[in-house]
Amino acid sequence: MADTQITTGSCRCGQLRLSVRGAPLMTFACHCTGCQRMTASAFSLSAMYPEDAVTIEGETVPGGMRGELSHHFCPSCLSWVFTTAPVMGPMVNIRSTMLDGGPAQEPAFIECWTSEKLPWAETRAVHSFEGFPAPESFGPLMAAFAQSRG
Ligand SMILES: [Zn+2]
Ligand SMILES: [Zn+2]
Repeated sequence: MADTQITTGSCRCGQLRLSVRGAPLMTFACHCTGCQRMTASAFSLSAMYPEDAVTIEGETVPGGMRGELSHHFCPSCLSWVFTTAPVMGPMVNIRSTMLDGGPAQEPAFIECWTSEKLPWAETRAVHSFEGFPAPESFGPLMAAFAQSRG
C-alpha cells in the first residue's frame, strides 16, 4: 500500500533525520521573496504531511521571521528543514528536497506568491496563485492532488 510507504531524509549534515509515512497531502512551490532569501534560490519546495505521519529525530532551532509560521532549522548546518504553523493545524510542511527520492522528484502541484516570483522562474505546477490559496480551496486542491497521483 502506498499509504504505508516510509520516506526518509535528513538535513545537509545529517544531524537531523526525518521520516514520513505515506504520501504528502499537497506539494507547493512558494515564490515569495521571504522564501527566495531563506533558500538563496528562486522558490522553496514544500510537501505537507499530517503531523502524526512525520518523525523528526534531533533538535531544531528557529529561523526566518518569528511570526505566524515557525521555521525549523538544523542547529549545525542551518538547513531549513520544515515549517509548522497553528493556522495550518496539525500539519508539517517539510522542505521537499530533504526527503530522499521523495516528492521533489515531481513538480510541485501548486505554486503560490507568483506575484513576487522572479521573471524567469518556472515550476511546472498545475495550479498557480498570486498569493496564498484561500483556505476553502484547500479541500478541493488536496482531492485533485490525490487524484493526480493515481
Ligand atoms: Zn544539519
Ligand atoms: Zn514563501
